[in-house]
Amino acid sequence: AAPVVAIDGPSASGKGTVAARVAAALGFAYLDSGALYRLTALAAQRAGVDWADEERVAAIAAALDVEFLENEIRLDGQLVGDAIRTEAMSAGASKVAALPAVREALLFRQRAFNTKPGLVGDGRDMGSVIFPHAPLKVFLTASAEVRAERRYKQLIEKGLSANLTDLLLDLQQRDERDSQRSVAPLRQERDAKLLDTTGLTIEQAVDQVLVWSRE
Ligand code: C5P
Repeated sequence: AAPVVAIDGPSASGKGTVAARVAAALGFAYLDSGALYRLTALAAQRAGVDWADEERVAAIAAALDVEFLENEIRLDGQLVGDAIRTEAMSAGASKVAALPAVREALLFRQRAFNTKPGLVGDGRDMGSVIFPHAPLKVFLTASAEVRAERRYKQLIEKGLSANLTDLLLDLQQRDERDSQRSVAPLRQERDAKLLDTTGLTIEQAVDQVLVWSRE
């Protein structure tokens, strides 16, 4: 199998941006695994299926008609845009992600991204469940306050409304749910390198991962 750089960490830690840039620098494919949970939550909502209905949500996850383009995602043939980036879909993704049958339904779809010359995967369980043999595992994090500020700026830039206090609370709730769940809980793997980006720029974080990838 081709090499994998597994980047896991909590919400809004900057994983997505760092992972995408590392992938571009290495000429590797990029897997935004969180998008699959977000798309599952969105598709369930559109189908009128409750996020807690494990069997039906898992069936939706298994049948997702999704296409990852350079900077866009198509669901059922239509561009999704920011519809999966709202706070409601963040919460929905975190809820459907706690259902074991949903995670199982998305497992092989994620592994299929591992093509030559390599893959950078970003999520919560890249290093623990999806690519346990990845030669490089990074646990990328930042303080909750800094993460809330980063998410706030992202939303404002997109013209979406946001409230910093609510964002911090949402983040903490989501982290709590992601770390306490029984399947694939968010935690730093023993063989993962810790990258705390609280005081780092994106460039510094990207450079650190690239240095590790050459070791
Ligand atoms: O990374 P992102 O914030 O887009 O992920 C949304 C939600 O999807 C997370 O809060 C988490 O519950 C879930 N997720 C997961 N496993 C992954 C990626 C995301 O459980 N590999």
